[in-house]
Amino acid sequence: MKEALLYEQVGHNVVHCRLCPHECVIPEGRTGFCGVRKNIGGSLYALTYGRVASAAVDPIEKKPLYHFYPGTPTMSIGTFGCNMRCKHCQNWEISHHSATEDGSDLVELHPEELVRIAQREGCGAIAWTYNEPSIWFEYILDTAKLAKEHGLLTVMVTSGMINPPALRTLLRHMDAYRLDVKGFTEEFYERLTGTPVLAKVLENGLIARDTGVHQEVITNVIPNWNDSEEQLRGLADWIVANLGVDTPWHVTAYHPDNKLTEPPTPVATLERARETGMSRGLRYVYVGNVPDHPGQHTYCPQCERILIERHAFGVGAVNIADGCCRYCGYRIASYRGPEQPQAGKGVRVPYPVRL
Ligand SMILES: [Zn+2]
Repeated sequence: MKEALLYEQVGHNVVHCRLCPHECVIPEGRTGFCGVRKNIGGSLYALTYGRVASAAVDPIEKKPLYHFYPGTPTMSIGTFGCNMRCKHCQNWEISHHSATEDGSDLVELHPEELVRIAQREGCGAIAWTYNEPSIWFEYILDTAKLAKEHGLLTVMVTSGMINPPALRTLLRHMDAYRLDVKGFTEEFYERLTGTPVLAKVLENGLIARDTGVHQEVITNVIPNWNDSEEQLRGLADWIVANLGVDTPWHVTAYHPDNKLTEPPTPVATLERARETGMSRGLRYVYVGNVPDHPGQHTYCPQCERILIERHAFGVGAVNIADGCCRYCGYRIASYRGPEQPQAGKGVRVPYPVRL
């Protein structure tokens, strides 16, 4: 537990948390919407600082990041709480769970320990994921700084639910930003997540773009919710116009979970979403959560050969040298990685880490 940053006192023992768009005004003894930032005696505390609910090593492809150091084993951690209430959340057991003051149901992990474990497990990156990292602000700030000092890559897997000043602070220590844009209308956001924050999420995409962090966008396509041509086209057009045609876009299959009972996304729907994205000008649109679908490989936009081959979450051949297609020399503008990546690298099966 640590005193929070980014809040102010607004009355007798009442605080205003400025971290995310909820802008919670919190009376003494209560937590904000996220369930993990609590007013204790007129000061705001981050209850989950240094407290971890879930940790695993998995390939960076699982974030998903496809144009960023392929195959890198990534220490992935998350904790309790979230500032969205998505009806289809797959991690609802931790993300819709509030933290307690004594933290007895979480594992204590100081920043130094996290970095040490990541190195012990042979990881090249740390990712804050599973629940919304924004609300873990203080811990991520401390751990990301330390990770960078030790030569690790840093990855934020987020739904973009954070206020711009806080985001800018975190991005100073991030190498990659994987942004979940869940749909393309405020009405959809309100229905699915409980809060109409599409405009704020998109604004954060622009902030990330302007900092030069590596950015990839994901959309979980849910039948009857956000799979209309209008929403998919709108989103694709927004990425083209604002983040650029080289930005990877992952369209992934939804599976029923938590409170949503729609049937799983048909593969044909994802293929249509991919076609929509490509037809609007995007160069790299990926089909996700469908094992061994050809839409998970990276193809050269010029010669159409496979540049990065993926199987499950493992990486096969990487035919990129010095950022260009090895066959025709086409430059993959959004690719970041070693100049000569090795094929077959990476963790194929994610495994939980003993803390
Ligand atoms: Zn080529």
